[in-house]
Amino acid sequence: MLPTLPDSLVIQVLQAPNDTSKVLGVTSRADSNDPKGELVVMLSTSYPGGMLAPVRERLAIVIYHEFHHIAYGWTMTNSHLSNSVLRVAVNEGWQ
Ligand SMILES: [Zn+2]
Repeated sequence: MLPTLPDSLVIQVLQAPNDTSKVLGVTSRADSNDPKGELVVMLSTSYPGGMLAPVRERLAIVIYHEFHHIAYGWTMTNSHLSNSVLRVAVNEGWQ
């Protein structure tokens, strides 16, 4: 599905430092895509249903979203693409 995804990926799973109710208990970011993919997933410990609720409900979606950033080459540290409003709207799924 994502043929340009690097062969090597590092995924850090951390406790979310803030209220994550607006993002349904889990937030994330793609830090790097070269030479390896690096992403961070932050889980809420106070979300209704506990830490496993967002894992069950949203983790696959969040990870796939960040994998797309990495495969596309649009990450926090070494992106070769612009941050135009149109690119952000399309890649982040703004409505
Ligand atoms: Zn995104």
